[in-house]
Formats: sequence, structure tokens, C-alpha cells
Amino acid sequence: MSTHRLPVSGLQVSVQQPTGVEDLLLQEARNLDMGLAFQLFDRLVRVSRDAGTSPDTAVSWGELSVTDLEALLLLLRREVLGDLIRAETECAAAGCKSRVDVSFHIDEYLADQKPRVPRGVAKIEGERTYRLAKSDVRFRLPNGEDMSAIDRQAITKRELMQRCIQAEVSARVRQRIERAMEALAPRLSRTMAGECPECHATMKFHFYVTPFVLRELRDHAATIFEDVHLLAVYYKWPEEDILALPRSRRLRYGAALRDQGSAA
Ligand SMILES: [Zn+2]
Repeated sequence: MSTHRLPVSGLQVSVQQPTGVEDLLLQEARNLDMGLAFQLFDRLVRVSRDAGTSPDTAVSWGELSVTDLEALLLLLRREVLGDLIRAETECAAAGCKSRVDVSFHIDEYLADQKPRVPRGVAKIEGERTYRLAKSDVRFRLPNGEDMSAIDRQAITKRELMQRCIQAEVSARVRQRIERAMEALAPRLSRTMAGECPECHATMKFHFYVTPFVLRELRDHAATIFEDVHLLAVYYKWPEEDILALPRSRRLRYGAALRDQGSAA
């Protein structure tokens, strides 16, 4: 288990390895969305307000900023699969279509997107709200509940801004607030640009943290049903005990039994 600080709220979190119970959640989930992420956080993340205090502060995930939630997913990913993210994308240039590897480190990625409070914006102490200087306009950051509503297509991006800004504002003020939000809580889902090594065209890679990380976590646990079956048959352990094993240990037992099976 490792401890980290979330970038926007500053909450201390510790993240632990999934067991078979979370692996089943991942395999059986209908959508790889924020709702599934919250279920995993409930089971795998402990939160404390400050370093050294008891690690059991109750947090409603839906109230945390999207940035903190995406950071938490990346931290969970690092705990389970390591710091280096590797992905593959395809060059979109006409006639090229080369497969191109994209890789980056979670640590560096998080360090590059550090939140800052821009000039002309003040945080209202004790609340998750900000105020534009020399005006009464208040706003909050997009949070997990907003994200879930967008996942369900229950609200549009425009309605999202209306939820976050607690007043009628001009288009100019809205743009100012949008820029402030990007500084206060830089989105970790973003489009990265690079150069195709084959044709040297500029290419883009769209990194959406939630589906990317949840898919990786699900795929890494793809053998859960077979593992349970093999361990139950061989050791006669009940399903409940097998599901309680940390993922890494269950995968090793499962692999050992498969090796033995293929050698026989
Ligand atoms: Zn290319």
C-alpha cells in the first residue's frame, strides 16, 4: 500500500492492490465509467485529511474534482501495473497508418499538470468554491457527479458549466472561468501531440484516463474465472477464500497451475 496526496483537494490517500472481488467487479461491469471507478475506490482507497491522522475519513467520491478522481485512477494503476504507461496509436496521415508506440511515466505526467490558483481568483475557505476577484461570481470545479451525468449523457457540456457557475454570466466571464478551471484543476484526460516516426506528420493521441485505466485493470484480471476454477479444483479452497487473495498472488498460483497442466 502506498500513500499520496491528491493534487486539488490535498487529501492524503492510500491505495491497495485489488483482490478477486474487485476483479469480478471489473469483469462483470457493463460500462468502464466513473461509477465503476467509485466502486473500486470504495474498496481499495483509504483517505485522511492530513498526514498522520487516522486514515478513515469518509469521502463522497462524487464531490471530488475530476482532476483528483483521474489522479486517483492513475495512482491505482501505478499500484497495480507500475508507473510506465504504454499505449499504441495509429498515424492518421493518408497512406501511412503506421502503428506508433506512446509511453510516459505516471509520476512525471502528474508532476507536469500541477494545479495553480490563477491571478484574479480566490478560494473560499472551507468550501469547494472559488470567487472571481472584483465580482460576486462564484464557481466550483467539475466533480465526479458531473462526470457521471456526462457519462450517462444526462447533461451537456454547457449544462455542466451552468451547474458549476452559480450565476448568470456573460460569454466572456464564462470563458474566463473556464480558463481558471483549467489552471485550478488541469484535466488529466487530454490530447497529446507527437511526430510520426515514419512519415513525420504531426499525430495526436487521445488519452481518456477513466476508460483507459479501467480497461487495463480489467484486461490484467482477465483470467479471474479460470484462476478461481483451477485453485478450487486443485487446492479445494472455497471461492470466497480464493477471491480474497491479492491479485498478484492469485495470478501467480494460477500461472503455476497452468504451467503444471501444460507440462503434464
Ligand atoms: Zn505517419
